[in-house]
Amino acid sequence: MNGVNPISNARTAVFFHAHPDDEALLTAGTMAMLAAEGHRVVLVVATSGERGQADVEPGEALGATRMAELYASAAALGCARVVNLGYADSGLSPDGGLADDRPDGAFIDADVEEAAGRLAAVLAEEEADLLTTYDPAGGYGHPDHVQVNRVGGRAAEIAGTPIVLEATVNRDPLLRGLRLVRRFYPQLDIRAFERAYSPGEVITHRVGVRRFARQKRASMAAHASQATGADTRTLGVMLKIPRPLYRLIFGTEWYVRRDAPLGSRLRHPFEAPPKG
Ligand SMILES: [Zn+2]
Repeated sequence: MNGVNPISNARTAVFFHAHPDDEALLTAGTMAMLAAEGHRVVLVVATSGERGQADVEPGEALGATRMAELYASAAALGCARVVNLGYADSGLSPDGGLADDRPDGAFIDADVEEAAGRLAAVLAEEEADLLTTYDPAGGYGHPDHVQVNRVGGRAAEIAGTPIVLEATVNRDPLLRGLRLVRRFYPQLDIRAFERAYSPGEVITHRVGVRRFARQKRASMAAHASQATGADTRTLGVMLKIPRPLYRLIFGTEWYVRRDAPLGSRLRHPFEAPPKG
């Protein structure tokens, strides 16, 4: 088949994320690729990220800023629609765990069945062919990210969405890189990363997105409140990476499809898994 017939082969993919900017780091290249192929790409966030790190105080104003940034990112990626499920950002404790001072309506405290019902309504309305969630570890373990895995999985069951892909990062090259860095910074504690994201052996999809590096970078740049100021912010650091290196590092996005046989090496979100 050559290319995509926009009438008969266009499908709908819903990308479910916890906070504005998560899409930039994990799935932006895949989103830009599917949109360029003529598919309908919908971006859903659980929260407006109003308790994220930023130069301004957490709260409603930050939430509004981050939603505006999300719309700019979605436009750069070619999304057809953005939905906010409207939960409160659970935030993080100073040590990176579950915060004690969570707001009312925090996503982590939401009833999974109720939240899944909200997402399932979007999936049904969109007649979604595909939903992305997160790996069970919630990537680096933010409580809202763990909740995306639970809520997303259940929503797909309710709506009967046929393809569910867990967006993740291949932990193996990440750990290799961090071990290398630790030679120069022995104080670097990499234990948390030993359980973060997914080992390469369970990853079923390696989606090459190097051609969409420009869109991915534009998506990251749209999240200015998370990218300016302190160098410790992930996005701020990533935007400073020189372009050629950036293309190398961000050339692949990884997913786990639980109903695909282990060892599958799929290249496209809609590619059918081998019979296992
Ligand atoms: Zn997040």
